[in-house]
Amino acid sequence: MSSSEWSKLIDDIKRCSKCRLSKYRRNPVPGEGNPHAKIMFIGEAPGAREDATGRPFVGAAGKLLTQLIESIGLKREEVYITNVVKCRPPNNRDPEEDEISACSPYLTKQIQLIKPAIIVALGRHAAKFLFESAGLKWRNMGSMHGRVFDAVLFGIKTKLIATYHPAAALYYPKLRPELEEDFSKLKKLYSREVAVKSKPRSLLDFF
Ligand code: URA
Ligand code: SF4
Repeated sequence: MSSSEWSKLIDDIKRCSKCRLSKYRRNPVPGEGNPHAKIMFIGEAPGAREDATGRPFVGAAGKLLTQLIESIGLKREEVYITNVVKCRPPNNRDPEEDEISACSPYLTKQIQLIKPAIIVALGRHAAKFLFESAGLKWRNMGSMHGRVFDAVLFGIKTKLIATYHPAAALYYPKLRPELEEDFSKLKKLYSREVAVKSKPRSLLDFF
């Protein structure tokens, strides 16, 4: 990826007025982290604090997400974090179908440029969008969370995994252990898919 292609995409998002959410937002929230990340976390839409700061997952749910990322030995700066919809829906309502259609080309392009080995859908809205975009049937979080799916998403071969939205686990503490368990599966998947494959080959491999 050329860095100018990436910056143009981020600038386009910051200037976008393709849907009605542009009228309510304070700041678009394109995403943040490493554009060369091996793992991408995708939420639903910015909330109040994200709208105020222009950064994804910086409120209470963001604090939990950051802890979960650190629990698998990664830093927030090493991964890429974004949302399906880049502007905050008024009163945090669900994004509407036409807003998702207007905005999703940005997420598509981000995925195509980052080419992450692993994509984590946070919450059922992101999960439904990503699974259906990959031609996979989405049922419900209870039966789908923590399972790893081989997917081709917008032309990119990746492993797709859904888990509960961190905000849901703050609201329903009973979900917290399941979310933590999904992240421990993610840690194993990460070491299998990323750490092992990118390890420099030993000289012995040549003999
Ligand atoms: N919830 C989301 O889905 N995304 C954010 O960025 C913050 C809260
Ligand atoms: Fe543009 Fe997406 Fe914001 Fe709508 S939500 S204005 S499509 S960036």
